[in-house]
Amino acid sequence: MKSWPPPEVPPLPPGGRTLALFDSARDGVHPTAPEDPARMYVCGITPYDAAHLGHAATMITFDLINRLWRDAGHRVDYVQNVTDIDDPLLERAARDHEDWVVLAMRETALFREDMAALRILPPTHYVGAVESIPAIVATVARLLGDGVAYRLDDGTGDVYFDVSAAPRFGYESHLTRTRMVELSAERGGDPDRAGKRDPLDPLLWRGVRDGEPSWPGADLGPGRPGWHIECAVIALELLGDRIDVQGGGNDLVFPHHEMSAAHAEVLTGHWPFAGHYVHAGMIGLAGEKMSKSKGNLVFASRLRADGVDPMALRLALLADHYRTDRQWTDDLLKAGQERLARWRAALGAPAGPDGAALLAAVRERLADDLDSPGALRSVDAWAEAALSGEGTDPGAPALVADTLDALLGIGG
Ligand code: ZN
Repeated sequence: MKSWPPPEVPPLPPGGRTLALFDSARDGVHPTAPEDPARMYVCGITPYDAAHLGHAATMITFDLINRLWRDAGHRVDYVQNVTDIDDPLLERAARDHEDWVVLAMRETALFREDMAALRILPPTHYVGAVESIPAIVATVARLLGDGVAYRLDDGTGDVYFDVSAAPRFGYESHLTRTRMVELSAERGGDPDRAGKRDPLDPLLWRGVRDGEPSWPGADLGPGRPGWHIECAVIALELLGDRIDVQGGGNDLVFPHHEMSAAHAEVLTGHWPFAGHYVHAGMIGLAGEKMSKSKGNLVFASRLRADGVDPMALRLALLADHYRTDRQWTDDLLKAGQERLARWRAALGAPAGPDGAALLAAVRERLADDLDSPGALRSVDAWAEAALSGEGTDPGAPALVADTLDALLGIGG
């Protein structure tokens, strides 16, 4: 699948730091220790509605990781998927009397435009579920052959994964079984489905139904893939048995990332699948989580069409720590716009305080679990001083401009 065009990343003087990140599995902040290349998998959109600010905040979070690793001298292999076949997409297409393929293509194109406008570094591989079906079919067949998956005997052809095959199941999310069952029901699982060995067992392959698209499944029979196996297969195919970061919004902690990790670990025998499971907070509006089902979405594309500078949007979303569930407000956007204007004015000053010191401060803050609020405060202080004529370093504005662009993605 086509990705989006990369923004320029200006080179910075050496001095990039080791990035430490919060890992959900270990429930604490730990240094990342990527091999060469660093490997990151981020769960992408299901393209049935345009990208809202929750998606934008999540993608900006993983963009910072990408930028920090590169600054520390790592090559980065970054994979993101598009779940371009799944129930929500078909339901939306049916509701709007639209072809699901057209809907998916249109929304994916809009997402790419938003990502380019926000200066998000594109993934190395941008991969759709549909194009991955042959690999998923082979993998599900292997799980069946290994006895860790089973076919329901109700004639549907549906295949499930046996979670009891994953000995460490639950290590990533640390939830009680009761809570797992609740979240499974809320987030696309089917704990009440008759005939499953365990209510938590996730779907691997859905046999063809009347009126639904399907693909050849060889011995599985025609059908389409489950969501968790989609991500596990794409990650294993393109990044190998172990990855450094598995990322997404915090609504993916369970079941999605727990299940994907269980699939990958049973397939490879390696544990843990990801060195860090990294989750971005949800963006709410008027006290509620922004979600398609609630219909309270603010779209990046809408704000762009209204003339909002994407860099101000980016700054608004960086103003709070990535792990915080937070509210989108007009004041937050206004503060981002004012900050952007102040920074740009300061970058136009003939001189400023020591640019190398500011670069070091931004690196230090971001390396500490992406403390973007701390990094922004450092830049604010530098900008105020530059605008007050306090600095005498004529090279500072150019170095600070490169710092903001390379590390925070604030360019243009
Ligand atoms: Zn995923």
